[in-house]
Formats: sequence, structure tokens, C-alpha cells
Amino acid sequence: MAKFVYDFTEGNKDLKDLLGGKGANLAEMTNLGLPVPPGFTITTEACRHYLEHGGLPDGLEDEVDRHLAELERAMGKRLGQSDDPLLVSVRSGAKFSMPGMMETVLNVGLNDESVHGLAAQAGDERFAWDSYRRLIQMFGGTVLGIEGELFEDAVEAAKKARGTNDDVDLTAEDFKDLVERFKAIVREQAGREFPTDPREQMDLAVRAVFDSWNAPRAILYRRQERIPVDLGTAVNICSMVFGNLGMDSGTGVAFTRDPASGQQGIYGDYLQNAQGEDVVAGIRNTVPLTELERLDKASYDQLLQIMEKLENHYLDMCDIEFTIERGKLWMLQTRVGKRTAAAAFRIACQLLDQGLIDADEAARRVKGDQLAQLMFPRFTSTTDGITKLTRGMNASPGAAVGKVVFTSARAVELAERGEDVILVRRETNPDDLAGMMAARGVLTSRGGKTSHAAVVARGMGKTCVCGAEELDVDVKAGRFTAPDGTTVTEGDVISIDGSSGDVYLGEVPVEDSPVVRYFEGELAVADGDDLVKAVDRLMRHADGRAALAVRANADNPEDAARARRFGARGIGLCRTEHMFLGDRRRLVEALILAEDDAERQAALDALEPLQRSDFEGIFAAMDGLPVTIRLIDPPLHEFLPDLTELSVKVALAGDGADPRDRRLLEAVNRLHEQNPMLGLRGVRLGLVIPGLFSMQVRAIAEAAAARRNAGGDPRPEIMIPLVGAVQELEAVRDEARGILADVARETGVDVPALIGTMIELPRAALTAGQIAEAAEFFSFGTNDLTQTTWGFSRDDVEAAFFSRYLELGIFGASPFETLDRDGVGRLVRIAAEEGRRARPGLKLGICGEHGGDPDSVHFCHEVGLDYVSCSPFRVPVARLEAGRAAI
Ligand code: PEP
Ligand code: MG
Repeated sequence: MAKFVYDFTEGNKDLKDLLGGKGANLAEMTNLGLPVPPGFTITTEACRHYLEHGGLPDGLEDEVDRHLAELERAMGKRLGQSDDPLLVSVRSGAKFSMPGMMETVLNVGLNDESVHGLAAQAGDERFAWDSYRRLIQMFGGTVLGIEGELFEDAVEAAKKARGTNDDVDLTAEDFKDLVERFKAIVREQAGREFPTDPREQMDLAVRAVFDSWNAPRAILYRRQERIPVDLGTAVNICSMVFGNLGMDSGTGVAFTRDPASGQQGIYGDYLQNAQGEDVVAGIRNTVPLTELERLDKASYDQLLQIMEKLENHYLDMCDIEFTIERGKLWMLQTRVGKRTAAAAFRIACQLLDQGLIDADEAARRVKGDQLAQLMFPRFTSTTDGITKLTRGMNASPGAAVGKVVFTSARAVELAERGEDVILVRRETNPDDLAGMMAARGVLTSRGGKTSHAAVVARGMGKTCVCGAEELDVDVKAGRFTAPDGTTVTEGDVISIDGSSGDVYLGEVPVEDSPVVRYFEGELAVADGDDLVKAVDRLMRHADGRAALAVRANADNPEDAARARRFGARGIGLCRTEHMFLGDRRRLVEALILAEDDAERQAALDALEPLQRSDFEGIFAAMDGLPVTIRLIDPPLHEFLPDLTELSVKVALAGDGADPRDRRLLEAVNRLHEQNPMLGLRGVRLGLVIPGLFSMQVRAIAEAAAARRNAGGDPRPEIMIPLVGAVQELEAVRDEARGILADVARETGVDVPALIGTMIELPRAALTAGQIAEAAEFFSFGTNDLTQTTWGFSRDDVEAAFFSRYLELGIFGASPFETLDRDGVGRLVRIAAEEGRRARPGLKLGICGEHGGDPDSVHFCHEVGLDYVSCSPFRVPVARLEAGRAAI
């Protein structure tokens, strides 16, 4: 029979799937001999059963009974025992840390009798009643779904009656009254009494944690972080220790290195006389952890020892939560800590230098997405003439500029209209998740680097300044005031610097990041800081490991040159239609309007030299490296004016309409298609419009000959789009070969050019064995292949219904962003295998958008492609991921 409950002594850190991150790490710490309050974990499997069947699995209750009895024996007291109660916390803990869930009920086991027992044992009446009211408050919110504000208002009223602003001034009597008031709130709102049976409290809390897996904010968080929908959460039941038993008690969070910068040192926040949630919720301002040395040296020293032990054990930066109860230190949680992109690169190299990990492991510790973040621009260093409003804590780096908004809903609303916004709050809570996602940056006036805002923003890679205490934020009035008296209201523009913590009024200009300057070759590694050095070191290691080459999608010499500086080993896709835009559109119009061969040839003759000079520039920029040039692909109507606009223009002009417009309108009508994406485009154009492909091939061959004559080393590859049958390819290939031979004869220069095809239709993938007979290379056009495999219009569906699909979990990420391994990926595999079987050594690449997506790069490595091709700015990301995929 399945085992649903694990004592902390039974698990270990590798059981995250089953015990969740928190449970697995509590077990690991227990087994390391660290001071962890005893407890047990109910597995994610039990949760999955509960969510699927709407009830607890058979046997779970018995198992919980047994583990609870053991816990009671170990602690020498029973749950809720009236003269000396065992109290427990009930906490969620999924495999991946999810600040969007965070269901926690503390002090379970208190009731009208045991509260006296707790008071007697602690020798502190006020503490006991405070703990009791906290239980009802948390239970009311989490388990019974009562609006938190109702409880908070009651606390505010009590404070007002006492003439104070601070919880600390409330007395035992005040808390007793609050307990009664809270019970009444429960009665009114939930239509039931607050359950006083300790076991019932615990069981209901467990179910509430299970249910929280499907809370809207948890769903939203999972979608953002691409966490699978069906993992479920574990529940940790842990005996309570108290940080609110006086000034010799407290609670804190710590990092073994700075999660923002990666620097070594002591980082964390501590709050005297407080219970766990107070720190993370950012409700009260904390003191830096180093203060603890003065407050309680023994606990501080012990904590530092434990932190070192944890780092050496996990071989990584860890974050921890701890509580000190009357001078005794307890560890409540640890995990490998979330960190910013810069910290990830720095820490990986520090651990490498310390000999704790090897270079492969260091490369595993950094991600392409993090590298992408480091390439974002940042504020210029000169901010003369710009008003600095204040400096808060540098919680999550980046440079964000936007209009101030004070609520999550407003942030979403303005962002949907395309505005950049900065969400300003006193503190954030999980309900602000949607607003945080929509905002460019987040600014809070309260809470430390471990507050909700900071942790979540770092996870999202979003700029965040927190704890800007000098700001007086009035969310209800929609304004905040800076120390110099400046008042900022909704809609005013501010700039926040997540690396320094500075907050400015107005827009601060931005400049290139040093990492981009390093890639550009403008900043020598020796002149860069330790971040640039770390990036350089890990990039070089990744390049050394990668099996996949990285090319770029580029169609002009500037992009090609940049791609090369960024490390591209060639061009995987040059979209020639991009050379037909701007002024040249008229020439394409002339081609479409041509009424006879002579007119058509004249139009082509006008286009050819322009194409040739484009190609020459690109060959020069990519000298010695392959350049894959794709012949024209899109339907020709894309080069003509809009049908409706032109019809109106011609109709309004009546008899006086320009004859050219009339001809254009006729052509637009003629070329109009219901489904242009499935219509006259790609290879079909080449077969239908005489001379079009030939002109392009001639331009390529002449450009290559010219480069060769100039001493260059051009390496053209000619690529035919949208092929579905080998016969299409054969026809075009034969024509192209003829032209290559003509040009070689005419110029006396023979530049070999491979002729290959895109695989972007299911039929092409399924007949790849035949197509390979006529193709010298394949390049997977996974944009069209995704479109045609799913039957999703790539231009329409993302806006139309993907958000609903993501919500329903039909896919975890848009298949246009991350390659759908099961469907589209299967076609890629089939084509790769059958293509190579027919033509051993067939060169295989990918040039759809997926070429720059980390997960898709890993897939391409697994399938054994030769290269991925992506936009120039993604080239470093793809290089890093290509290396990581090979490790
Ligand atoms: C593709 O379809 O994946 C591709 C690269 O071609 P395009 O995006 O130009 O259709
Ligand atoms: Mg395509």
C-alpha cells in the first residue's frame, strides 16, 4: 500500500517530487543533525489523489494518526493538550517554490482551554492570547476563505481604542477581546463556529492546503513559471516554536550569499519578538542579520556555522528561515536560493574557484534566460538634472521606466493598452501577482530583500526596489510623497534602478549593459567586472562543450556583422523578401503588374542588382562562414496596398482614378486569397512566376563571384521554402543549377553553393527520405511547421485564444515559443532520421523562432541537428544553451 506520510527523519532532499521542496529539505536538515522542530510531511501523491477524487486516499487518516502519535510521544505532550498543548504549523510545500500559494496556518491546537495551558507554560498570558487570535485569523483566511481585511480592521479598531499604532502595545485583555471578535467574524462570514477540536483544525488545514493548489493566484504563478499543473503540493506538519516570546526571541531569513549581486557575506533580515510570516510579508521593518551578533551572539555564531554547513552540503547558495525561541535556534526551512541573473553567474564561478563544483556544473547553474536578462540595457551613469526621489533596497536588478500605478488591477489595465507601468505598493502580497507580471518594475516602501515583492520579482527577472521607507505611499489616494515633498500621483513617470535601489522622477536614459559591450567586443574581459569575467568564462566553457553550432537569422550586413561578433557561426536564414521593402516595393509592384514577358523581365532586371549588392554585403560580413539564403517566401499580395484602402481610393476618385491604381486594384483582387498562408507562396511562387527565383539565384551567384574576385571567401547556401513534395524541389533545383553554371561560365568564377530546402510542412517531414534525395541540407522552419501541424494560424491564435489554452493547461507554453516535442518535435525527428538515412551526412538546422528558445535548443541537441539559427541578440543565449545541452 502506498505510503502517504513521511516523518522528517525518513525523507531526504532528493524526494522533492514526493515531499515537496520544503518537506524534502526539512528531512535533509533533520538528518544532518541540525535543530529542526520535529514533524512529518503528507505527500504530493496524497494531494493528487485528493484533487482528482475529491477526497482523501484510503489509509491516509490512519497514517496521520500514527505519525501524530509519534510526534506527541517525542514532544511529551498531546496536540492541543489543555495544560501543556503541542501546537503545530500546517504549511504547503510544492516541488517548486511557489510564492503564489503560500498557505500556512500556525498555532494549530489552540482553543479556549489550551490557550490557558500555553499561557501557564510560557508564563506569558499576552503571548498565548496573541497566538490564539493569530490562529483564528489565519484559519479564517486560509481554510474558511474569509476576507483578511475583516480581521485586520478589528485589530486596527483595538489599536485605536488603546490609542496606539503598534501591535506591541496591545495587552492580553485586548487579545482576549479580539479572540471573541474574531470568532464572531467566523460565525458571521462562514456560517459556522470556529472549530475548537485540535484534530479537526489540523485536518481542515490540510485540506485547505491541498485546495490551494488550484487557487487562481497559484495557477497564474505556475503559468508564468511554466510549472506543470498536475504536481500537487505536499503538506508539512511541524511542531511550533515561537519567535514571539519576548525580546530574546525572534525570527529571520538569511542567504549564504547575496541573492542580488552574488557577493559573499552575511545577508538576511531579522525581526525580534515576531512570528515567521511577519518577516516575509514585509509587514514590519526588519534589521539586517548582522545585528543579531549584538542581540544574541551565541545564536548568531551557531547560525553562521549552520549556513556554512548547508553551503558545503548543498554545494550552492542556500536561503534559510529560522526562529529563535528564548535563545534557542531552530531551523524552519532551507532551499537552494533564488537569485538574480548576475548572482547566478557570479556564484557559479565563485563555487568553481572554491573547488566545490566543476566547470560543467557551473555551466549547469546558469541559464540562457538569465544571460538574456543581463543583456538588457541599464540606466546611464550620468543622471545630472534628474530628480532622485529616494533610495530603497536593490532587490532585483534592471532599469525600469513607466507610469506609476498603485493597484494590481490598474497595472494590468494600462499594460494591456501597451503602456509601461511601475507598480508602487506599501508591500505586495500574492494577490498582486498579476500586477507584478504586467508591470515593468515594482517599488515598495516596506519590507526587506526577502519580502514578497523582492522574492517574486527576482523569480520573474523583474526590476524591483523594495523597502523605500522614506516614501509615504497612500494607495487609496493614489499617490506617494518623497522626503523632499515631491508628490507623485498615478500616471506620473518614474524610473527605478533595481541594481542601486535608486528611484527617480521622470525618465532616465538607458545605455547598453556591459555584457552586451563585452559581446560586441567593445569591452575587453580584463577591463570588465567580475560579472563580465564570469560570463566570459562560462561562455567559453559552453562553446567548448556544444555539439550544435549557432547561426543567426539576418538579412542585412549590419545584423550579420553583429551576429558574428556575438559568436554566430554563419547565417541560417536570410529572408530575401525583407530586401523588397521600402522604396523597392515599387519594383515588386511592377513585377506583379507586368503584362508581358518583356515588362516582367524589365522588373526583374531592376531588382537583380539591388539584391546582388545586398548579398555581397552579407557575404563580406560572414566571410568564410555559411550563409543560407532563402528565396522569396510570402504571398505577393503582401507587397501591394491594402485591398479595402485601395478600393476606397479608386471609388472616391471615380472616373478620375489613376490608371495605375486601377491596375493595382485589379492585381490585388486577382491575388486575394482566403488563406494566404496556405496559398501562393514559397516554392509555389517560384514555379508560377517565371524568372523570379532565377533572378535571385543569379544575384546570389554573381555576388559570390564578385566577393571571390575581391579576395573573399563566400559560402552561399540556397534554400527553397515551403516545399511539400520532392518534385517541387527538383524543378527549382534544376533551374538553379543551370543558372549557377551560367554565372560560373560568364564570370569565370565557380563558387560552389549547396541547394537545400526548408522542412516546414508535415508532408515534407513525412516524405523527408524522398526530399533528401534532392536536397543538400534541411532547415526546419518550425514557425510554419507548428502552424501547419496544429492548424493554428501563427498570426492570429496567440491573441485569440492561447491565454485560455494556457489556463486550461492544454499546453504549458505557446508552441510558437517552445517547440512542441510530442507533435511538431516528432515530425522533426522523423524528418531528421529519414533524411539522413537517404543522404548520410545531410546537414540539418532549424531557423524557426525556436532556434533561440532554451528548451527547444536542448531538443535540437537531442535530435542531433547540426545547428540552430536565431536572431542576432539571442545568439549568446543559444550558444550557452547549446553548451549546457551537451553537458
Ligand atoms: C519558419 O516557418 O519557421 C520560418 C523560419 O520561415 P518564416 O518564419 O519566414 O515563415
Ligand atoms: Mg516559414
